[in-house]
Amino acid sequence: MSRKTLSEAEVYRIEAFLKEIEEVDHTSTVSISNERLEEVREGTRRDETLRKVGLYVLDGWPEKITADDDELKQYAKFKEDIVMQGGILFKGNRVIVPRHLRIDMLKRLHAGHSGMDASLKLARDTVFWPRINEQIRNCVSSCLACQEAQDKIKLPMQTHEVPAIPWQRISMNACEIEVGNKKRKYLITVDHYSDFYEIDELKDLSGKTTVGICKRNFARHGIPETVVTDNATQFVNDEFINFSKKWKFKHVTSSPHYPKGNGKAEATVKIAKNLIQKTSKNGEDLWLALLIARNTPNAIDTSPVQRIFSRRTRTTIPIITEKIQMP
Ligand SMILES: [Zn+2]
Repeated sequence: MSRKTLSEAEVYRIEAFLKEIEEVDHTSTVSISNERLEEVREGTRRDETLRKVGLYVLDGWPEKITADDDELKQYAKFKEDIVMQGGILFKGNRVIVPRHLRIDMLKRLHAGHSGMDASLKLARDTVFWPRINEQIRNCVSSCLACQEAQDKIKLPMQTHEVPAIPWQRISMNACEIEVGNKKRKYLITVDHYSDFYEIDELKDLSGKTTVGICKRNFARHGIPETVVTDNATQFVNDEFINFSKKWKFKHVTSSPHYPKGNGKAEATVKIAKNLIQKTSKNGEDLWLALLIARNTPNAIDTSPVQRIFSRRTRTTIPIITEKIQMP
């Protein structure tokens, strides 16, 4: 059974099998989303090792891998976990990524610049290839933007009492961040339940502008019961007071009733600031980075998106449809 390359007849059999399985795909339990999976499918066909793995999945694995292919031997170690669906190989429900797409995938996994553990967890939830963890570690530890920011980040998220439901209690904070050579103002809004946060650019620090952005966020997420802010003028003004009365939420400012203050928002501002600066430095897309960061599991093994929406959202990292559907 040791095949160095596949014969034409074998390729033909695989193609025929793939065609067959693609036709019945929608009836299967593991359906696949994301057009980007097409590139994984194509890559799987082009990856010599994965072609062999595919063949073994169909035909049965040999007793011993005699071919001089280290990666094939790696796959053989967990052959029971490997399945093929629609021309794509999975280890459990992680998409196996062909060799030539891996460098790009490493970048995607770290696009949120969320740190080593977070990137490893995101991979554990989505994609696989042999020695992926080692490569993620190398990729993250060589990320210049993260290295430069390292000493500045100390991010223990403030442990206020966790509310019972998403978007029940939120904190807001405005900040100024230097992006390129320009100073920009942002409003950071964070949900205490999920750690999900919104980044909104402010054209000025007026009450009117702030209320306008709040309305958009509340139209999206619902009206929170409690809004925590500091005493900055964009929150303490008639416009904002009227807004809180009309929209029926409680506005709490850091002092004197709430001495612990707005720690949640301040910690989140640091995280957001980091993301804005790192992506700007690397010439990366801030919003794509935010999307990945929101989908990256944190210390409690779920992502902010999962905690607020009860599902994952679609990113540039391939994922099975099951995981972006409602549970
Ligand atoms: Zn980074």
